[in-house]
Amino acid sequence: MNDVDHPIDLRSDTVTRPTDAMRAAMAHAEVGDDVFGDDPTVNALQERVADLLGFPAALFVSSGTQSNLCALLAHCGRGDEYVAGADAHIFTHEGGGASVLGGIQPQPLPHRADGTLDPADVEAAVKPDDPHFARTRLLCLENTLGGAVIAPEDLAAATAPARKHGLATHLDGARLFNAAVAGGGDPYAAARRITEHFDSVSVCFSKGLGAPVGSVLLGSREFVGEARRWRKVLGGGLRQAGVLAAAASYALDHHVERLAEDHANAALFAGALDGVPGLETGAARTNMVFARPVPGVAPRDLVERLAARGVLCTGGRPRLRFVFHLGVSRADTERAARVVREVLTEGVA
Ligand SMILES: *Cc1c(COP(=O)(O)O)cnc(C)c1O
Repeated sequence: MNDVDHPIDLRSDTVTRPTDAMRAAMAHAEVGDDVFGDDPTVNALQERVADLLGFPAALFVSSGTQSNLCALLAHCGRGDEYVAGADAHIFTHEGGGASVLGGIQPQPLPHRADGTLDPADVEAAVKPDDPHFARTRLLCLENTLGGAVIAPEDLAAATAPARKHGLATHLDGARLFNAAVAGGGDPYAAARRITEHFDSVSVCFSKGLGAPVGSVLLGSREFVGEARRWRKVLGGGLRQAGVLAAAASYALDHHVERLAEDHANAALFAGALDGVPGLETGAARTNMVFARPVPGVAPRDLVERLAARGVLCTGGRPRLRFVFHLGVSRADTERAARVVREVLTEGVA
């Protein structure tokens, strides 16, 4: 097999493709018109995820970005403000959608070294009721954050000042199940210990869970009703969406526990790169490994040289990121580690 035509793709867990069995589940899905609310497969998925994660209602949406944006628009109005970590996807990677479409401004906060927010910073970020200030309405946290698991105690600590001041709380749980699986035990019980701190939660099915499309947004009935309005406004009212919901449902049946394999592969990869000259590789964080080239080794050159040898990753900020997922076997992991080691040992131009 040609390594470059069949690369090991570690750029993201979004590159996962539906398996044959998932495609079969999609092909046989019973469908209706979800804008009329009568797609049985969508309805079943929404009810199932709401039950599993302890919420009254859920909404199937096109993407994680659309899910977060529906949440922001449902929680906040024009002139309102949301508080989030400065590295949070909702602030850094969603095109400023809250500002563009909602007239909602972000209030970013610094992260501590472990990715958590300091509750004192959250407290200080809540503005007094004064016409000089935007109205602080919402706290958004993320778990996992850059692959790092944020412990339930830290979620409780950061959300406490928000509750005290009457803010709503939203969790961007794009990789909620990675966080839930990381501690071992029942993943759904672990997921609920995370989600119980929030009024709304977004979960992606198109990342490590391996579905081609889709996220689910959870919250109260009233909140989900409001989010449903915004989903339509955003052009996200899909019709026979059951073919997509079937993939997400299949992922819940078959791809949750196996996330532990991705975490094991990430740990194996990080261990194999330990001590490679030219690269400072951190410990695996759930399904991700970050490596920082030493001064003199240009990240972009490294990304290109690895790609030329059939290993794809992202890089240049200035860390390289390698993400493990269901399209990457243990043998692929070993091969990828070997390639990285060889490329760095050969030196980088
Ligand atoms: C990927 C991701 C999203 C957005 O999901 P898309 O489906 O790509 O829009 C949101 N939050 C986090 C933390 C993510 O990793």
